[in-house]
Amino acid sequence: HDETFYALLAKHAAARPDARAVRDSARHLTWRELKDWVDAIADAFHEAGVRTGERVALWASNRAEVVAAFLACSRQGYVCNPSLHRNYTVEEIAGLLSRVRATAAVVEQGWGADTDRHDPVAAVSALPDMRRVFRLPKDRGSGDLPAPGTAPRNLRAPDLNPDTVCYLAFTSGTTGRPKGVMHSDNSLLTNCRDLVKDWRHDHSTVLLTLSPLSHHIAWVAVGQWLVAGMELVIDDPAPGLSRLDWMIETGATYVMGVPTHAMDIQAEQARRGIGRLGSVNLFYMAGAPIPPAVAERFVAQGVRPQNIYGMTENSSHQYTHPGDDEATICKTCGRGGAGYTVRIFAQDDPDREVPVGTVGQIGGKGAALMLGYFDNQEATETSFNRDGWFLSGDLGVLDERGNLSIVGRLKDVVIRGGHNIFPARVEDLAIKHPAVERAAAFAVPDERLGERLCLAVLPSGAAAPGADEVLAHLYEVGLSKYDMPEYFMVMDSFPLTASGKILKRELAEWAKAGRI
Ligand code: ATP
Ligand code: MG
Repeated sequence: HDETFYALLAKHAAARPDARAVRDSARHLTWRELKDWVDAIADAFHEAGVRTGERVALWASNRAEVVAAFLACSRQGYVCNPSLHRNYTVEEIAGLLSRVRATAAVVEQGWGADTDRHDPVAAVSALPDMRRVFRLPKDRGSGDLPAPGTAPRNLRAPDLNPDTVCYLAFTSGTTGRPKGVMHSDNSLLTNCRDLVKDWRHDHSTVLLTLSPLSHHIAWVAVGQWLVAGMELVIDDPAPGLSRLDWMIETGATYVMGVPTHAMDIQAEQARRGIGRLGSVNLFYMAGAPIPPAVAERFVAQGVRPQNIYGMTENSSHQYTHPGDDEATICKTCGRGGAGYTVRIFAQDDPDREVPVGTVGQIGGKGAALMLGYFDNQEATETSFNRDGWFLSGDLGVLDERGNLSIVGRLKDVVIRGGHNIFPARVEDLAIKHPAVERAAAFAVPDERLGERLCLAVLPSGAAAPGADEVLAHLYEVGLSKYDMPEYFMVMDSFPLTASGKILKRELAEWAKAGRI
């Protein structure tokens, strides 16, 4: 393919200039309006001295400016780094931006974890490579960026190479320090093209991304939006509206997020007695297993759940398909699209493939793979096996039809006196208990056995289940007595990554510090 994100935008602006392209709480732009705006922003970036191949960072709430700035980078051949989450502190942001040597940044005032005490614009402006920080006001308006309708002054010819790096995203940081992942237009769009084709998305699809624009999934949404020429709705409800109201009001038909989003939406539905999600017919969930009850609640209201497995490194390229039955959707993550092949490798030898039905490390190959980790040649090299398969660090098993089931993380194994316990299995069984909404199992250090297992649960209602009751349940649903947790905790909330995953690293640190 020879199209970049910007080339797709220009194509829709030429073919359907007056069709609706993108919407947030303040703007509802056509393809032509959006393209003109993107050109003006590209011009402003160039005037600020940004040049091809340099990194431009975006730290802002969900708003059309972020999408337009990303597309402006695509036009100019800059590398856009939008993966700066709300929960980062100013110091953390400054650290990440100096790691990627960003030369321009778009920063929203008051955004971030401690911007009440620290000025993000001052901190980011002080970084050695920074040429210009474009401020966005907290309330709407484009701030230092040109507003829609501004004419560019000195627009250069676009720089459109679909195989050079255009995007840099940090992984979620579930297992350690977040890694910077580099993608080209082609590696990002491969997966989007497959999803659009397999699910037959077209101009009539209205796509709402619940994943914040700082998360990789949002850019998988942006890619599909541009491939199909749909309308994109940003998770930015108009004042006074809840997320659920916004979903219904905007006529969204296709929603993308993580299972945590689905749980939140369903809780709001239950609280307000709202039985249907407006026009939504497809709910994409990536990043973590889908609790079966969540999938069932969607099916009961005519919404198809779609299970996606993947990672920033392969742009989430494994998914359930339109014809799949409920068991396939709930129990597996489906198959790769045309641009990605999955194989399973022995846990103790990543160069040796194992047969169908055997658990091993999930490997993958195809056009959807990243170009590499930013500034980390060593991590890039060790993440591929001898034959060039990318090693995910996750354990899984393929069935006869090629559907993949996730078993857990390769390193997420608790070893109790030499016996391996897979926390993911204990968690899956624990959430089958009706009073358990979410569960995390992890190691507590032990002098004699090395490690023992702790199970932490988040109750689904007001009444927390007792330890005995949960243990009896685990036994009933088939957990071996050798895999039983020996510590039990009831949580009010879990520490989560910005993408909604339970931060077991943090729970394990509590355990090490004797707080459990
Ligand atoms: P880090 O690489 O920094 O430790 P991370 O792996 O959580 O963080 P992401 O790239 O956002 O960062 O997430 C990818 C991981 O999420 C996968 O490797 C896998 O462990 C998990 N995951 C993704 N989809 C699913 C799914 N459908 N079911 C279970 N786990 C999933
Ligand atoms: Mg990872």
